[in-house]
Amino acid sequence: MAIAYKRVILKISGEALAGPQGFGIDFEILNGIGDQIIELAGLGCEVCIVVGAGNIWRGRSGVGMDRSTADYMGMLATTINSLALQDAIEQKGADVRVQTAIEMRQIAEPYIRRRATRHLEKGRVVIFACGTGNPFFSTDTTAALRAAEMGADVILLAKNVDGVYDSDPKTNPDAKKFSDISYKDILAQGLTVMDSPAVALCMENNIPIVVFPLKEEGSIVRAARGEEIGTLVHG
Ligand code: UDP
Repeated sequence: MAIAYKRVILKISGEALAGPQGFGIDFEILNGIGDQIIELAGLGCEVCIVVGAGNIWRGRSGVGMDRSTADYMGMLATTINSLALQDAIEQKGADVRVQTAIEMRQIAEPYIRRRATRHLEKGRVVIFACGTGNPFFSTDTTAALRAAEMGADVILLAKNVDGVYDSDPKTNPDAKKFSDISYKDILAQGLTVMDSPAVALCMENNIPIVVFPLKEEGSIVRAARGEEIGTLVHG
């Protein structure tokens, strides 16, 4: 089956990289993601990745800290995850570039939209690190922003949960999963699967979001093929 989306933004939460220990980077998971990225690129998909940092640090963990400083720590942590992903994918034979929203030229390229587009045209995978570069934002919002800027056809939102529910399935056994839902309903019902600025940005720019479980085997490729997996968020 061919791919359903030519240019994708894959958002991987930091938590999903942690594995059972709940902290740090699980190399088996990293490898599994790498294999799927290679498969996706082989199918002719242009792949951009945004990764979170919940496995290392989140701004809101800095209780009593200056919030901006705590958020800058979070943005730096996304760079650690991005470099790990770059390495895992590169070792499997694909060309990858990390671009950071905060300059750190010894480590990675700065974010330059046109340059990122050129990388994609050359078949390279591009990983966007440091979020938006601004405190008080999230990597979900980064995924939405980069999707709009790069003209992506979809956001593939890889989570620890298998889709969008009407309430938290961890605490409510009767929680109902949606196969699809509109941006407006997510915002109106206050569902927190993705933060609201990110949903609003996708709504304004008509970018569909597929929320799916990273843990399920081959789920990234299945989502990119447009198979029924997780929840489709649309207009
Ligand atoms: N962050 C930020 N601005 C951004 C993106 C991220 O300040 O544009 C910081 C923020 O502190 C956040 C942390 O980086 O808590 C990690 O990102 P996020 O919480 O989105 O990671 P995830 O939950 O996806 O693992």
